[in-house]
Amino acid sequence: MAFKLPKLPYAYDALAPRMSEDTLRTHHGKHHKTYVETLNKLIEGTPFEKMDIESIVKKTAGSNEHKKIFNNAAQAWNHTIFWRSMAPNGARKPREELAPLVEESFGGLDKFKEKFAADAAAQFGSGWAWLIENSGKLEIVTTSNAATPMAEGKRVLSTCDVWEHAYYLDHKNKRPDFLKAFLGQLIDWDFALARLRRLETSEIRLEQA
Ligand code: ZN
Repeated sequence: MAFKLPKLPYAYDALAPRMSEDTLRTHHGKHHKTYVETLNKLIEGTPFEKMDIESIVKKTAGSNEHKKIFNNAAQAWNHTIFWRSMAPNGARKPREELAPLVEESFGGLDKFKEKFAADAAAQFGSGWAWLIENSGKLEIVTTSNAATPMAEGKRVLSTCDVWEHAYYLDHKNKRPDFLKAFLGQLIDWDFALARLRRLETSEIRLEQA
């Protein structure tokens, strides 16, 4: 059994000019693909081969022995949810029960954007910024390298990749410009809503073949 690289949920040029075709082809077709391929090599012939991606991430989190497996499995999962956190014609504002939750948790959408952008910009080096649900409230958290709140059983609603490879071709070293585009023109709040509602279609699975 080997994991397959999940297809991008839209065309490579669908997010341009905010995220260029060049960026997506490199980021999905090279970086994400390498994480999946490396994971497959690392788990070949081990008990991990029979597990789904979330189980591998949870089982290897915090383990020194399985650090490489964790890094590649987590990056395989993180990128899959990142692609789905964006959409060419996504909802740029929270809807339904997500709207009052954003209001209660952050004091409104503008305040959320401010805090998300500030926290994500302050994440030193490579990592991720996450919108998670924790006991009925929303929170913003950031993690380093491959670390993911999913490993701790937190419900991720949306995420932004802040590794340099996510924005360097389009924005050079200007991470804040990329975050502005993510929060303004790329994020799909309806995906976050589907994750909040725990809809089957919003679950992140990697096919195995
Ligand atoms: Zn990435």
